[in-house]
Amino acid sequence: MGGLVIIGASYAGTQLALAARANGFVGSITMIGAEPHAPYQRPPLSKGFLCDAVDASSLPLQSPERFLEERIALRTGVTASGIDRQAQVVSLSDGSQLHYDALALTTGARCRPLPCAGAQLRHVYYLRDLADAYEIKARAQQARHAVVVGGGFIGLEVAASLRTLGLDVTVIELQERLLQRAVPPLISTFLQQAHEEEGVRFRLATCIRQLRGNDAVTGVELETGEILPTDMVVAGLGVMPNVELAEACSLAVDNGIVVDRFARTSDPAIVAAGDCAAYPNPWAPGSALDGRCVRVESIQSANDLAKVAGATVAGRLSPYEAVPWFWSDQYGYKLQMTGFSAGHDQAVVRGNVAAGRFTALYLKDGTVVGAHSVNRPQDHMAARRLVAARVRPDPAVLADEAVALKSLLSA
Ligand code: FAD
Ligand code: NAP
Repeated sequence: MGGLVIIGASYAGTQLALAARANGFVGSITMIGAEPHAPYQRPPLSKGFLCDAVDASSLPLQSPERFLEERIALRTGVTASGIDRQAQVVSLSDGSQLHYDALALTTGARCRPLPCAGAQLRHVYYLRDLADAYEIKARAQQARHAVVVGGGFIGLEVAASLRTLGLDVTVIELQERLLQRAVPPLISTFLQQAHEEEGVRFRLATCIRQLRGNDAVTGVELETGEILPTDMVVAGLGVMPNVELAEACSLAVDNGIVVDRFARTSDPAIVAAGDCAAYPNPWAPGSALDGRCVRVESIQSANDLAKVAGATVAGRLSPYEAVPWFWSDQYGYKLQMTGFSAGHDQAVVRGNVAAGRFTALYLKDGTVVGAHSVNRPQDHMAARRLVAARVRPDPAVLADEAVALKSLLSA
């Protein structure tokens, strides 16, 4: 059997299959997924699902009927173990092989492991998939104290969920402030205060010397010598792209499977998308000028690059152009982000930071390049359009609450 074979059954894989069909691909489509489940939503795993506000039945990305209608054959619980590019064959963990005319790599990413002694103890968790979430949920029902390692998105969302469940939570972060690489200090400080008001404690600018315990973890020893007694540890130290299959068959890999603006790898028969792919995102600082590739770990990026890849497979070349955006829910705060704030030279704040309803807009050389909104969804939607239009507003007007953000589009 030929047709399109997709390795990795999650956001990018599903979107790519649907996009191939939407663009007229008529051959067979087979999607291989290592997990036992059909594709499902990951964001609730650290948010509503973890704190019992969201039920597992609402997690599937698409109904089984949709896969049938679109003639997408889903093979779950099977891992692709090798690619023979010359023969155009994928080998699977169940011993079978699949021939392909077009191949898509949507293998995602996996959690970076804790780099210290004791990491193998029981009740030390990572959160990437549904199985992880079930384990953390089960332990949280018995535990009183939790230590979260990493003050990134996983760490903060898990901290908020565990705190909502009533656990005593301490977050450890290597850097001097939270989410240092993703957001400017204003947002880091806002989020830290929001967590502290809910009772979360922080240890910043420090790391773990070791995890203590015989069989299960009982404490976290910091490099400062402090020991935090705990019943569980959740580590959110960032992710590593799943590129081993691509490397083994000599595709170009550089912090991700390298693709062009049409999601094509260095082999014209193979596309890649999602967390595993590095691509020239026209909104990333410098990328538009020198074509430098970036890996953007978000659902928007996975979906939009997968749409491009699906169209490419169907023979319709349309470059990646979508403006980046994503969100994080912590307690009652919805943080929404668009564009890239890194490298901005001016920031303008609208709204009331202390009241938890505000938007920070970032400019570079006078152009709006990104924005962070907290509980201002209309600002977020407008900011996405301002970034897309590369608007160059007067900063005083941008800061003026009497002027609707979207009106700056026409100006
Ligand atoms: P993944 O979702 O990682 O899926 C890849 C799939 O491929 C996996 O199922 C894996 O098992 C499978 N696979 C890998 N190798 C093989 C192989 N050899 N054979 C077969 N199958 C294989 N992003 C946001 O934008 N907003 C959020 O609020 C948000 N919240 C998140 C919360 C959590 C808890 C997590 C873990 C992530 C969150 N993200 C969020 C990030 C987002 O989920 C990822 O960016 C997105 O899942 C990437 O999709 P993907 O399809 O590229 O890869
Ligand atoms: P992340 O956002 O990259 O954050 C990891 C944090 O842990 C970084 O601040 C990192 O610091 C820190 N860290 C690394 N090693 C450490 C150590 N030994 N001790 C203490 N701190 C350490 O990654 P993540 O939070 O693990 O999230 C994983 C993935 O899921 C990402 O792709 C993320 O985008 C995604 N996700 C997204 C959302 C969302 O969009 N709402 C929610 C959850 C997850 P350095 O920066 O110095 O490495």
